[in-house]
Amino acid sequence: DKIFSGFSKTRDNLAVIDELLLYWNLSETDRVLDELEEILLVSDFGPKITIKIVESLREDILAGKLKSGSEIKEALKKCVLDLLKSKGKKSELQLGFRKPAVIMIVGVNGGGKTTSLGKLAYRLKNEGVKILMAAGDTYRAAASDQLEIWAERTGSEIVVAEGEKAKASTVLSQAVKKGKEEGYDVVLCDTSGRLHTNYSLMEELIACKKAVGKVVSGAPNELLLVLDGTTGLNMLPQAREFNEVVGITGLILTKLDGSARGGCVVSVVDELGIPVKFVGVGEGVEDLQPFDAEAFVNAIFS
Ligand code: GDP
Repeated sequence: DKIFSGFSKTRDNLAVIDELLLYWNLSETDRVLDELEEILLVSDFGPKITIKIVESLREDILAGKLKSGSEIKEALKKCVLDLLKSKGKKSELQLGFRKPAVIMIVGVNGGGKTTSLGKLAYRLKNEGVKILMAAGDTYRAAASDQLEIWAERTGSEIVVAEGEKAKASTVLSQAVKKGKEEGYDVVLCDTSGRLHTNYSLMEELIACKKAVGKVVSGAPNELLLVLDGTTGLNMLPQAREFNEVVGITGLILTKLDGSARGGCVVSVVDELGIPVKFVGVGEGVEDLQPFDAEAFVNAIFS
């Protein structure tokens, strides 16, 4: 399983917990929990979630519910899993009943937006879904070429900008219209990469969202934020800002095959209450997997 190949750093950090808990006894609870706190922090869990986890363990230990190191370890894993599951419900795509369903993919440059869109197209096509791609990244000259390669690779139709000054919202609106008229199931919309601090580009995203909603009511059905898994806790302010501006419905975490930081995944889900829907585990067409919270927890606390 490729998800097990990433996170090696996180896994090494967290492996220390096993040693720590091996010699745990009640009288050493404070010291052990302090060290556990350190370990979670260096594994990018973030202060808020770390305190939440540690205090919940302390409570259970003092209440006599956890009586051995291995019980504490299990409780720790369960705590993380419960967090991911309670805050990250609806981890499957919610495409509604109107055709076409519209999925908008947003994120900063280089995070893996276009690649993820291509891999998602491949996944959906294999499920028999009729896909139309929309090249809504009208800023970067090479972006639509890159998406056209993915369209070819996955046998998808694609709508690209007509003329150099085409607005992103116009391209997306045209694509969704075509999708509606020609009976597509899903329109997958690429957007320009942008820093979450770039006001005018964030405004453009709002315009894109409105434009597709005018063609099919309820669209976009999904607004997926692509986050680079190797950026650690830096993904938090990004996610917060995108969510405030356009309302994110799900996350795609990319590059989990590399040196991804596991803890921040939990942090983002907990803080924003947004589910991770897919994870990217490589650059090939098949390297996008639905997020499996249990597999994730087992991968980082193996
Ligand atoms: P965009 O600017 O957000 O559209 O990013 P791209 O889709 O162009 O991806 C940027 C780089 O990251 C490319 O070289 C991709 O091949 C690479 N990439 C994207 N997703 C993954 C992933 O899950 N794993 C790995 N290893 N590389 C990825």
